[in-house]
Amino acid sequence: MSNLRTVTQLIEPQTAIEGAGVRLLRSIAPRVSNLFDPFLLFDHFAFNDPLEGPIRGFPMHPHRGIETVTYMLEGATAHRDSLGNAGLIGPGDVQWMSAGRGILHEEMPRRGESGSIYGFQLWVNLPSHLKMSAPRYQEVTASTIPAYEKNGVRIRVVAGTVDGVTGPVTDIAASPLYMDVELTPGIEWHFPIPERHTLITYVFEGEGVFSGETIAAIKMVKYNDGDHITVKTENRPVRFMLMAGAPFKEPIVPYGPFVMNTIEEIQQTLKELRNGTFIKE
Ligand code: FE
Repeated sequence: MSNLRTVTQLIEPQTAIEGAGVRLLRSIAPRVSNLFDPFLLFDHFAFNDPLEGPIRGFPMHPHRGIETVTYMLEGATAHRDSLGNAGLIGPGDVQWMSAGRGILHEEMPRRGESGSIYGFQLWVNLPSHLKMSAPRYQEVTASTIPAYEKNGVRIRVVAGTVDGVTGPVTDIAASPLYMDVELTPGIEWHFPIPERHTLITYVFEGEGVFSGETIAAIKMVKYNDGDHITVKTENRPVRFMLMAGAPFKEPIVPYGPFVMNTIEEIQQTLKELRNGTFIKE
């Protein structure tokens, strides 16, 4: 490892209102410029104040052309969909949903025992040849996500491999790494990242020195190309989501919950929603 990936961009998450009035922290959102290819969106749900009242959630809505990845740390998300799936994504669980040609689903966050809801939703693009593929789920419960632990580094590996520990989510077009990484104070960690893959980290607790740059929570961080990153901690621990993936380098046209390659495909999607042919099962 000789080519360090340095920090190229720091993004301050912005408060956004989505669904039926859900307040969340948004770092990236789908844009034609596709600057984070293959990643499209990253939302952080953090409801810590029970006085905020009922959480309204995300009533039935469609998706096409993308994968949505929900990772809960506290509380849960109740979901059900047009394929007949229903369940609860609880603390530590991951749902990796490939919407493919179309799904309608409902996502309703619920408070945990502490009264909090804490979790993330990532959107990953699909390449053009898979945008109209059959919808597919990989549901992973907390106990089946392996933890790598060594020398003050603890990593829950959702997708990808760390030192022989491989995450349960496989066969994803973007060949992603998706990991929840924690470092205790006074640690230096070097980690290889495939060259030419896009790398972003979402620092959500504590503070660390990422490839030489001191970054405190909460920030989304983008890196240039290279073959590894380094993360160092001084007096404080740090915790972050690490995401890397192969860019598809295709034009995209985002429209709400759909991300296609052309305007015609978006128009076709809206037409199918209107005439009731959106769901193909
Ligand atoms: Fe959704």
